[in-house]
Amino acid sequence: MDFSFTEEQIMFRDSVEKFAQKEIAPGVDERERKAEFSYEVWKKMADFGLAGLTIPADYGGGGADALTTVLAMEAFARGSRDMSICVVWGSHLLLAAMPIADLGTEEQKKKYLPKMASGEWIGAMALTEPDAGTDATSLRTTAKKDGNHYLLNGNKTYISNAPIADVLTTFASVDLAKRAQGLTLFIVETDSPGLTLGKPLEKYESHSSPTGEIFFEDCKVPVENLLGGEGEGFHAMVHSLGWERIAFAPFVGLMEADLNSCIEYAKERKQFGKPIGKFQLVQAMLSEIKMDLEASRYLAYNLAWKKDQNEWIGMDAAIVKTFITEAYERSAQKAVQIFGGNGCMREYPIGRSLWAGKMATIGGGTSQIQRTIIGRMLTGL
Ligand SMILES: Cc1cc2nc3c(=O)[nH]c(=O)nc-3n(C[C@H](O)[C@H](O)[C@H](O)COP(=O)(O)OP(=O)(O)OC[C@H]3O[C@@H](n4cnc5c(N)ncnc54)[C@H](O)[C@@H]3O)c2cc1C
Repeated sequence: MDFSFTEEQIMFRDSVEKFAQKEIAPGVDERERKAEFSYEVWKKMADFGLAGLTIPADYGGGGADALTTVLAMEAFARGSRDMSICVVWGSHLLLAAMPIADLGTEEQKKKYLPKMASGEWIGAMALTEPDAGTDATSLRTTAKKDGNHYLLNGNKTYISNAPIADVLTTFASVDLAKRAQGLTLFIVETDSPGLTLGKPLEKYESHSSPTGEIFFEDCKVPVENLLGGEGEGFHAMVHSLGWERIAFAPFVGLMEADLNSCIEYAKERKQFGKPIGKFQLVQAMLSEIKMDLEASRYLAYNLAWKKDQNEWIGMDAAIVKTFITEAYERSAQKAVQIFGGNGCMREYPIGRSLWAGKMATIGGGTSQIQRTIIGRMLTGL
């Protein structure tokens, strides 16, 4: 492993952080209160080149490798503290656009990627259904071939970006009896006949990152929008894991932003005539956050580095997802504790991390199923 970054990577990381501090951080709280996705913020990110960061340059993107992307996402989150826009960004770029970049035909790439890279079109990835969450291969959405089209029937839920999406990568089954072998991936434009987007679901946190339902009722999808072959959806899911898990890099930046706020607060806030940072029990909480932060950071870099070397990342993907999100959740609890009563007040952003951390341990595959995956790989059972 070689974590020495190039000068270019460092300059890019720093420019992303400055951009996020200047252009994205102001107004985060207001956007969260209004619970509105901001197209203005999205446009700024797109103009900076972030909407298409990893999309190959031939299709209008930045062609960034995984390590550069992790650095950029970490720096963006640290600078902006905008969890919601990080979810929008990761879902659009890493969950929706990258499977098209990696698995799409030349026509599909030419048709969708330039619009996604410029941010004109927002993407979403729709897998989860009301009765198929952790057990994703039991999904009930069907795809039946009908001449030049497939007809999709079923519904999806909890889909990040669904209420604002222009295009989806979505999973349906061409043969329910075949379970995983029937899974098939499609590119679906959200103005397709037979597709309805539900209203945004109300979450406890990350309000300006819209999450919603999608309903397919004889939704007509052209045959040329099949992404990969019939029955190859499970393979696509596994293949996409690398980019998908890189979408958790922002939590490293958010953890660091929280730690910096905690240090500052612990030095300023006085009790018993001393800064609370003098108390060893407070110092212990700070050091535990720091240890979780550093471990998470190196796990994220390691995953990205391995991905860039085309190494097998199956177990690393599960470890990164579980460790980083749980570390963020643990850290958020300590951070709020350090802020005391202020940690419970909306005036301080620290409390937002509590729910953001919890949601992160669920979205994208729960901690329990990740542990099961790691355990299965360890034992081969
Ligand atoms: C904020 C947010 C954003 C999301 N965005 C997307 C998105 O963009 N696209 C998308 O497709 N989905 C998305 N999801 C859905 C997410 O992937 C699912 O919520 C997740 O996979 C869990 O499924 P479930 O909610 O149905 O829980 P369930 O599967 O019902 O699980 C309930 C509980 O049972 C446990 N459990 C289930 N099976 C097992 C098992 N075999 N062993 C041990 N424990 C088990 C779980 O760990 C959990 O604790 C999002 C979810 C959230 C919260």
